[in-house]
Amino acid sequence: MERTLSIIKPDGVARGLIGEVIKRFESEGIRIAAMKMVFMSKAQAEGFYAVHRERPFFGSLMDFMTSGPAVVMVLEGENVIAKNRELMGATNYKEAAEGTIRRDFATDIEKNVVHGSDSPETAEFEIGYFFNKLEIVG
Ligand code: ATP
Ligand code: MG
Repeated sequence: MERTLSIIKPDGVARGLIGEVIKRFESEGIRIAAMKMVFMSKAQAEGFYAVHRERPFFGSLMDFMTSGPAVVMVLEGENVIAKNRELMGATNYKEAAEGTIRRDFATDIEKNVVHGSDSPETAEFEIGYFFNKLEIVG
């Protein structure tokens, strides 16, 4: 069993896509082990996306991620890191495969509805960033 961090970004929450995204996870047999809504501060968003600090889009990404509430979840399942990335689709929704969340709902390379950890190491960091052990239901 593997765990990963998923975020329904502020665009997804504002557009009423929480249920749609969760339905896609659950119908693939992915279990939600933890979930909460967060309205990130600048400092929280900067800490979460620290790896992208030098990227030209960082400032805009920070404005976006702090523009409204997001839903953060711990997903659990076999091979769930890769499986979640597959369900999400490519970062750029124009390149995302048909039937993926980003292809179906993203409106912009930045406003792409969901986040998912991209490796076991980032999953561990990202889960710990938002949840303590007691908040993750085994
Ligand atoms: P995420 O980390 O959110 O799951 P990702 O791993 O597919 O997405 P990253 O390269 O980690 O993509 O970029 C993080 C986020 O930064 C993207 O999801 C998107 O919101 C934004 N982003 C990435 N590239 C660009 C870009 N060229 N222009 C604007 N925003 C971008
Ligand atoms: Mg990423």
